[in-house]
This record gives sequence, C-alpha cells and structure tokens, in this order.
Amino acid sequence: MNEMIQSVSSLSGVGPKAMEQLQQMGISTIQDLFEHFPFRYEDHAIRPINEVQHDERVTLQGKVHSEPDLRFFGKKKSRLTVRVLVDGLLVQAIFFNQPYLKKQINLGDHLVFSGKLDRNRLAVTGGTVKPKSIDRESGLEPVYSVKGDIKVQMLKKWIDLAFSEYGEQVKEILPEQLLATYRLMERRSALYHLHFPADLDTFRQAKRRMIYEELLLFQMKMQLFRKQRREEEKGNGKVFQEKEVTTFIEGLPFPLTGAQKRVLNEIIDDLSSPYKMNRLLQGDVGSGKTIVAAISLYANVLAGYQGAMMVPTEILAEQHLASLKDLFEGMGVKIAQLSGSARAKEKRETLQQLRDGQIDIIVGTHALIQEGVDFDRLGFVITDEQHRFGVEQRRVLKNKGLQPDVLFMTATPIPRTLAISAFGDMDVSTIDEMPKGRKPIKTHWAKHDMLPRVIDFMKKELGNGHQVYVICPLIEESETLDVQNAIDVHFQLSQALPEINVGLMHGRLHHEEKDTTMHSFAINETQVLVSTTVVEVGVNVPNATVMVIYDADRFGLSQLHQLRGRVGRGSDQSHCILLADPKTDVGKERMSIMTETNDGFELSQRDLELRGPGDFFGVKQSGLPQFKIADIVEDYRVLEIARQDATKLANSKAFWSSEDYRLLREALEKQGAFQESKFD
Ligand code: ADP
Ligand code: MG
Repeated sequence: MNEMIQSVSSLSGVGPKAMEQLQQMGISTIQDLFEHFPFRYEDHAIRPINEVQHDERVTLQGKVHSEPDLRFFGKKKSRLTVRVLVDGLLVQAIFFNQPYLKKQINLGDHLVFSGKLDRNRLAVTGGTVKPKSIDRESGLEPVYSVKGDIKVQMLKKWIDLAFSEYGEQVKEILPEQLLATYRLMERRSALYHLHFPADLDTFRQAKRRMIYEELLLFQMKMQLFRKQRREEEKGNGKVFQEKEVTTFIEGLPFPLTGAQKRVLNEIIDDLSSPYKMNRLLQGDVGSGKTIVAAISLYANVLAGYQGAMMVPTEILAEQHLASLKDLFEGMGVKIAQLSGSARAKEKRETLQQLRDGQIDIIVGTHALIQEGVDFDRLGFVITDEQHRFGVEQRRVLKNKGLQPDVLFMTATPIPRTLAISAFGDMDVSTIDEMPKGRKPIKTHWAKHDMLPRVIDFMKKELGNGHQVYVICPLIEESETLDVQNAIDVHFQLSQALPEINVGLMHGRLHHEEKDTTMHSFAINETQVLVSTTVVEVGVNVPNATVMVIYDADRFGLSQLHQLRGRVGRGSDQSHCILLADPKTDVGKERMSIMTETNDGFELSQRDLELRGPGDFFGVKQSGLPQFKIADIVEDYRVLEIARQDATKLANSKAFWSSEDYRLLREALEKQGAFQESKFD
C-alpha cells in the first residue's frame, strides 16, 4: 500500500478548512506536500559587507551602536532605526512596522538582521531581525509560496510532521543504473534536504537530483506520447516519383543551400513514411523557408493529395499565393486562396472546388481548417510564421477526422533547449545557413536626438532609389497610443521629406486600406512606410534598404530581429537604425546585442538569457511546460541529457518489462503519460 497518496488531512492540525486551502495550492496528498518545493531560499550566510551589491538582500551581523529610535506615522505605521557596527562600518538598520523590536534591541547587543542594502546611504531597509538560532550551517532559509490563510510557518510544520510520519515510505523511482551513472542522491534524502537543507553542498545535491528526475519524467512523457501517436496514426506513406521533385528543384532560379537540401530530405522522408509528420521547421528570417514549403507541397500533390498553407494575415496569404503561382507556372498545379474578403459567390466556388478536389493547394489564414471547409483528400498542412504551435491545430484537424502530415514553420529561431522542451514530441528541422550573396545588414544604435542625422541618411538612401521602413514605438497595452504615435511620426516625416510619398500603416486601418498601403509600398509608389508593428511578419519588399525603429528598447530582441529582417532582402547593402535611449541595463544590453549579431539563433539564445523562458514566448499559452524545480535556461544541459536518456529508455525492452523500472512506470502513469488525451 502506498501511503504517499494519503490525504494531507491525515496530518494532525490539518482540518477541513486548511485542507481546502491546501488543495487550492495544488496539495492534496502527502506526496504533493513533499513536492511543494520552496520557490526560493533566502541566503543567510553572513557575508562581509563589501561583497554585497547595491539593492541586494543581505544578512549582516554586528554590534548595536545606538539606542533604537522609534517613530510612528500614519495610523499603524512605524519606523525603527538603529545603528549597527558591521565590519567596522556604521550601518543604519531600518525596520518598518515592528515597534516591538524597540524592547528587544539593546545597546551593545549582537544583532543578526537582514534586508535590502542601500550602498549609498549605507542602510539596510525593509529588514527583519533574525533569531540567533538560524540554521547557521547552511544559512539557507526556504521560502514557500502560500495562499489564503495558510501561513509559511504552518506549512513548514506540516512538512516536518509529514516527514516524521511518512518519510520512510518515500520510494526511489529512478532505476539503480541512472542513480549510479549520475551519482544522484536517493529520493527520500533529496526531498528532505530541499525542505530542510543541512548544508549548502547537500542542498545542491538534493536539488540536482530532483531537477534530473523532473526533466527525465518530462522527457519520458514526450517520448511516450510520440510513440503512441506514431502507432495510432500509422497509415500509408505517400508515393511519388522523387525524380519529378528533383527536376522541379533543378528548374529553380537558384541552387538550394545545403541546409535547405537537408531539411527538405527530412520532410520528404516524413511524407513517404507511414508515420504522420509532426515537424517544426525553423530558420532565420530570409533563410528560404518558403521554397522548402513549396517543394514539399509539390511532392504532396504528386502523391495525389491536396495541401494547405496557413499564414497569420491576408497580406501574407496573397504574397504566398503570388510566389507559389510563380513557382508552379505551367506545371498544372491548381492553387487558390481562401480569402476572408472575397465575395460570397467566389468563396462558395472555392469551397466547392476544394471539396471535389479540383484545387491542389489552398492558401489562407488559420480560418482554413477551422470553419466549414471540406477537403477531398487533404494530405499536408503547413503553418507559417506562428507561435502557438501544434497541439491546438492537431486537435482541430483530428476532430474533423483528418490526419494530414503537419509542418510548422517559424522564423523566430528557438534556442535548442526550448525547442526540445516545448516541442519535445515534435521533430525539429533547422535551416542554419543563409543563401549565398546576402550582405549582412548593418545595425546602428542612435539616440533620439540624432534624428536629424538619421533623416539625412534616409534622404541619401531615398536619393539612390531605395525605400525605407519606419517602425513606431510600441506602447504596451495600448493600441490607440501606438496608432497615435504612428500618426505623429508620419506627420513629422512627411514634413521633413516633402518630395517623398510617405505611407502610413497601422492596425486600425480597414484591411482593404492595409492592402492598398502595403501594395503602394511594394510597387514603390510610396517610398517611406511608417508603420506600427503590423508590418512585422513575412512581408517582402527587396528594394527597401533602411529600417528605422523608434524607441527600439521597448521591443524584445526577437521582435527587433523580425523587424530588421524586413530589409536586407535584395542585393544592396541594408541598414537598421535603432533609435533608443534605454534607461535600463537590459535595454542597453539589447541594443548592443542587436548591433553585434545578425544571427537569429545566437540572438534568441541571448534573449532567452535576458528575459527568461516565461517571457520568451510572451504568453503562458506558448505550450512551455511549467516545471516545479527545473529551470529551462539554467538546466538546459540536464534537459538534453534527460532527453537522450528518455529516448533510450522508451525504446528499451527493460523499461517496459523489468522490475527495476516498475516504480518509474508507475510514476509516469500517475502523470498520465500513457494516454495522449491528457496532452491535448
Ligand atoms: P523566409 O525563410 O524568411 O520565409 P523566404 O523564403 O521568403 O525566407 O526567402 C527569402 C528570399 O530568399 C526569397 O526572395 C527567396 O526567393 C530567396 N531564396 C530562397 N532560397 C534561396 C537560395 N537557395 N538561394 C538564393 N535565394 C534564395
Ligand atoms: Mg517566410
């Protein structure tokens, strides 16, 4: 009998009310309680004051050098100040709303206290007095997140109680062989020392063990889902003459890059195999993903299937339609667009032709698979430039009884660590090479007061017949302000460049107006395009050689890189000018990184380091897993190792049959690893 799944209510002191609140914190069983890890540790290791940074939280000790001075203000507010001699320096310790400390602190006392260090005033504020009995050895005080009426002290007491009553029953779930290979601490001790760190080294070992366990279980789940899906969705491979594909490739106006050839092989293999493709294709802006998509669509058509290409906007749909039509000129491939703005009659016809199989390739926004659209033989779906991958779309398709091969394309290169964690059950193809002959974009960082020089530079480029994008500041949460900004900048530039046609683009325009604006820029009727970020994705105007971004420090690195990628598409030298007066170090760092590298992968890795994985995709729905103890950025090496181990295990016989792996199998089963519906 596994006592670990006992309810926490079996602990003395946990009544029905506490139980309810614990449940809201995700704690129902003893095991949940054990796995409710501190979200951080306060480091009470007492350090010499000169090693402490400004604004850092510290614990200091010293001799009380003045009588505490207590002042009241407001109704219940108070401030107590006392001078303490620390390492030969007089430090002001300031305690808010703890008037009772006046009685406890006496001249000449030895005082241990913590708070935030203000180096300029040599003061520690927001402080608390530490009992002298604090765990001196590790100096680590676990800090827990709690909810409602649950207090940290209660939680600690229950965890302690749980260990004395049920600690013995914590079982090892990792197989002996892995424990030995990585010299991992045994599960029970690891759990214990995360809550009650004995000393720093033991704590680190405990953490290392639990991080590995968490990531291994995660990767195992991914591998198991993948295996299941492969078995469930096994069908017939697509049959076509590869020679015809090769002939098509040879007819292109340029040779494919090595990277394009490699990913194309991966895709073609998927198409021909009996397994359904579930693949992410990533490649920097301008690396030539579209042609790869086109060739794969062609192979799919050769095999007798219809294909769909989904993009985020109508502008992009039109652009793709045009380039696909170009590519397939005279080859008897029928391509159409399902456009939201088409007239009802036209739309009906398109739908009809899709249903009876006359259309080979359909291009459109994501509405393509959502609404009442029926296909004759849909074999392949490509999704371009979008961030919310996979799961949702797979479900929509599945619900419609369709199981086409699926390829997701993204121009936001994802650091490998994120790719393998967020898309653990997907295959990933990467184009990591640019077509030959591209001139790297030169990126410059200028302060806003240099605008007159920037305008001169624009004039020079315009004089050479080139075009210019100007992107307006991003105001978080307010599209109205974004639009206002764009209108202002448009006005300003129209005045500064009287001979030039300056276009204006923003999200409030009706989509026909957007199309017209974009079109005039594409055919060089307007030479400068002032825009909010709506212009960001995929647009291709090779004659544009300058990208100016106002308040560039408000944008994330990936977004800046995307914007920059709108230029540098022709054979002339392109420039990106970042106008920014960043106030924060992170802002400055971003500007420097932009001027230092054109490589999207390097940039995304640095972005990830700067922002952390949560922010990287902007939103929670990104599909990134939430880990309890592991950190995707810091622990990426472990993540990779865990993936290798998981792949090996999932494909081994031992994992499925041996007694050594029984507890691991059970742990995975509890997490729903053997049923894909959990994942959807
Ligand atoms: P992205 O990966 O950003 O979607 P595109 O597919 O739009 O990039 O390609 C950018 C440009 O590069 C297009 O004009 C395309 O025709 C061109 N291109 C693609 N592959 C090659 C190649 N192998 N050699 C030269 N030019 C290429
Ligand atoms: Mg593209």
